[in-house]
Amino acid sequence: MAQLLKTLEEILPRVEKPARYWGGEWNQVKKDWQAVPIHMALCFPDIYEVGMSHLGSKILYHVVNARSDALMERVYAPWVDMEKELRAADLPLFSLETKTPLAGFDLVGFTLQYEMTYTNVLNMLDLAGIPLRAAERGEGDPFVLAGGPCAFNPEPLAPFLDFVVLGEGEEVLGEILDLARDWKARRGARADFLTAVAAVPGVYVPAFYDVAYRLDGTVAAVRPNRPGVPERVRKRVVRDFDKVTFPERPVVPFLDVVHDRVMLELFRGCARGCRFCQAGMIYRPVREKDMATLLAQAEKLLKNTGYGEISLASLSSLDYSHIAELIDALVNQYGTEGVRVSLPSLRADSFAVEQARKVHEVRRSSLTFAPEAGSQRLRNVINKNVTEGDLLATVETAAEAGWNAFKLYFMLGLPTETDDDVLGIVELARKVANLKPQGGRITRVTVSTSNFVPKPHTPFQWEGQVEREELRRRQLLVHERLKGKRLEHRWHEPEQSFLEAVFSKGDRRTAAALERAWRLGCRLDGWSEHFRFDLWQQAFQETGLDPTFYANRKPAAGETLPWDHLDPGVSKEFLLQERERALSGERTPDCSRERCSACGVCPALDIPIRRRGETK
Ligand code: SF4
Repeated sequence: MAQLLKTLEEILPRVEKPARYWGGEWNQVKKDWQAVPIHMALCFPDIYEVGMSHLGSKILYHVVNARSDALMERVYAPWVDMEKELRAADLPLFSLETKTPLAGFDLVGFTLQYEMTYTNVLNMLDLAGIPLRAAERGEGDPFVLAGGPCAFNPEPLAPFLDFVVLGEGEEVLGEILDLARDWKARRGARADFLTAVAAVPGVYVPAFYDVAYRLDGTVAAVRPNRPGVPERVRKRVVRDFDKVTFPERPVVPFLDVVHDRVMLELFRGCARGCRFCQAGMIYRPVREKDMATLLAQAEKLLKNTGYGEISLASLSSLDYSHIAELIDALVNQYGTEGVRVSLPSLRADSFAVEQARKVHEVRRSSLTFAPEAGSQRLRNVINKNVTEGDLLATVETAAEAGWNAFKLYFMLGLPTETDDDVLGIVELARKVANLKPQGGRITRVTVSTSNFVPKPHTPFQWEGQVEREELRRRQLLVHERLKGKRLEHRWHEPEQSFLEAVFSKGDRRTAAALERAWRLGCRLDGWSEHFRFDLWQQAFQETGLDPTFYANRKPAAGETLPWDHLDPGVSKEFLLQERERALSGERTPDCSRERCSACGVCPALDIPIRRRGETK
């Protein structure tokens, strides 16, 4: 340890932002390593500034460290300069709190938020000296686990993971830690722990399942290869979200991070039913916190951190049943102390503008809306409940209230999209730019176009991504027409979206290409300056995998999908029905406000069906 610290002191002055690797922040939890039996590392496979902005990590850090028999320490992916220094000094990747090498932990847990971080997972394991593949790990090596949204199809990472947690970590982790503590006290064998953990509902041990393939390359079946392992692993969720433990003392970073503020989580889930949105499907059902709970948590969060901003963080925060009262209460209570309330996303209606006004968002000067598609036809296909009239009226009201810059988010390549839909984006942006608000003005309209990526467990899981060249043509179609003094266009590179689609829909065979790409030097793929598509192409070629099979192919409705053995509670029948409704342009209402659309998750998880605001 002394040697590690000495070397670190030599290295850190040479790297950008040394605080990324030093820890010691306000509210960090540093326990006596020897006094605690179970040691778990929370690995975020991206850099510190991104990881420190992730609410789920803050929750897990709090949940584990609240136990007297366990500790959790943080580890982030090093930036390229630090990786170079670590490798040159032969220094293993270490935790921020006690600078313990990652390989010294009992459990090494990764949160998988985005497919483009997968090479970072491999790189972090390698930098830690932990055998990459689960099958190569022996007694004394840590167990490598993963959770998060991408865990709902972890197959591209399956050979590298000992186990996977499906659903809300705070619900499952306690049982895993209990097992680990008892197993360690018994000095059990590695295989015993894996057998025990596979019996925990919500836990998936990839090595306990065999995948068979058909001659055409599709999956024939995924079956347990031993008794006592469930055919399908169902996700776990917190039933009473009001009672769930919440991090009231989050770590306060020394450097600017992406979301540098406290976050108040109003509810879990989203029932709007956008058909492209994986979060909307896998985090169902909607579960809200009481307002009194939220106000008490807000007070503690602000007092314990000293932050001057509180963000209302949920998938669509303005859908909270008591949002107007909550905002009023927070502004009245803390506004005079200079504390700002912020809304991460706005829907396109006057209510949203009114709430944004109350929290003085106008000081930020720019408002963001996400119509997602340029025509009403396509918005019906994706079940996005925004009309052109809504958007124009909302922007006008907002401009009259003082905002002058607007950001509009769209997706290109959505199922059934035609050039008319693409040109509709341009038309809509121009209409926004040409509004003449009374007493206000619109100085800038920024159109951001990302590329549609079909996601597992959504009604569009049976879709293929539009080919890269075609996506680029559609991007250009928008770009060339979005010229004008007040119009700006930003877009995502089709190559990055293509890889996201490959690993979003990938099966176990894609792990070989992932490993090869990492060995060729791919890492930090989500950062365009480090993204090397040429190396990825080489990796696919060398491993004999056709990436278009995963990204661009439309699976047949009856096909076994690589993630079918993982169950988010939403039924496949519902997803198929939603796909049919999409193709015929039929909308499905928000089940938390109107009728239940029978997605299956409430009965599957034995959670009562309730409208928003209904008391428990
Ligand atoms: S079962 Fe019904 S109420 Fe529950 S999330 Fe699904 S659609 Fe909504």
